[in-house]
Amino acid sequence: MHLSEQNSYTIQNIDPIQLVEQYGSPLYVYDGGTIRRKTQELQNAFSGINMKIKFACKSNTNLAILRLMREIGVELDVVSTGELEMGKLAGYDTGQITFTPSGVPFHEVKTAVEAGAIVNVDSIPLLEWFGQTYGNTKPCLIRLKPNVAAGGNIKIMTAHADSKFGISVLLLDQILTVVKKYDIKVIGLHQHTGSDIKDAEPFLQVADIVFEAALQFPDLEIIDLGGGFKVSYKPNDPITDMQLLGNKISERFKNFCEKYGRELQLWFEPGKFLVSECGYLLVNTTVVKEDPARTFVHIDSGLNHLIRPMMYGSYHHILNISNPAGEKKDYTIVGYICETDTFATDRPLPEVRQGDVLAFLNAGAYGFTMSSNYNARFRPAEVLIDNGVAKLVRRRETLEDLLLTQVGFTE
Ligand SMILES: *Cc1c(COP(=O)(O)O)cnc(C)c1O
Repeated sequence: MHLSEQNSYTIQNIDPIQLVEQYGSPLYVYDGGTIRRKTQELQNAFSGINMKIKFACKSNTNLAILRLMREIGVELDVVSTGELEMGKLAGYDTGQITFTPSGVPFHEVKTAVEAGAIVNVDSIPLLEWFGQTYGNTKPCLIRLKPNVAAGGNIKIMTAHADSKFGISVLLLDQILTVVKKYDIKVIGLHQHTGSDIKDAEPFLQVADIVFEAALQFPDLEIIDLGGGFKVSYKPNDPITDMQLLGNKISERFKNFCEKYGRELQLWFEPGKFLVSECGYLLVNTTVVKEDPARTFVHIDSGLNHLIRPMMYGSYHHILNISNPAGEKKDYTIVGYICETDTFATDRPLPEVRQGDVLAFLNAGAYGFTMSSNYNARFRPAEVLIDNGVAKLVRRRETLEDLLLTQVGFTE
């Protein structure tokens, strides 16, 4: 979002307040240009090696976003058969889709494998089942847990010793025993360390662990190092230096390939990095309440639409796009849900008046996909702006949508 010389905010020259007037509030708006830019940035950083991007689509499954990803050469990582179907609807071949389950029922794995997706096997029992079911007829990747703690906070770390995800590298012998027993065709090793990882160091550390383990598997084609790159949440926030990370990992990857004796593909599965910054949640100010403790600004949204602050304590930058030049004051921004849903405490913002439109930044990842109908509230509409054109890509929900699955009250 840019502040113009006329002191108004625009996204690709489109006035976001006008979008709220047209499509209602609250509204999710995505800037396709940002997605294209972030993708290019990642591709450039790894231009020296054979690198493939698999968008972790749990961060945003709007079909228009998935279609855009497909157009720009980004493949998919899915965590459920539902997401697999979304990928197919967006036009992906199942061969371009990786299924990375976390302890799902084996019939889901079967559905995905038989549809043609490749699976990241995440437990010894699943590996046993995979061997018994497919022997050496279907390829798979194995998800390792490298026992490295990294990420923004404990709730979004996925590779420390206590994490539920993947098979501990300490069980490598056991993995190899099962692989040999069924002659399982392991074509890749995978790991995903967590989210909001700023520095290159943890990525290098886990890469080394995976490369070391990889020497035990003779038929590899792929090393998948997951996602988790940190993005900017506040102005001047330190973020992953992608070019630096790209150079460092590429160098180690090349050395590894030499040692391994063959050129492999390196995969990444970013969610946040590709879509966090593209998204805005636009809301209306419902009440400005001067309380002896602090000034509360209520908005027509809540943790039902954006749960990240309450779930992980995450920071979202907020702009008062209706009054950019207003005098700065401290506001506590809260939702309309009957539950504590604080978005920001004592946040300096240009004077907020009832009816002002506020914009939450970094709402493109884990925003809409984590939303709910709590308090019988409707989920917002979504708009994608691409090539200078704003398009409605999801309509706002209605009461009928809420009643659709309740039995006995509608015809
Ligand atoms: C969630 C997830 C990702 C994406 O994480 P980001 O922090 O959004 O980049 C990648 N891989 C797997 C397996 C995941 O579960």
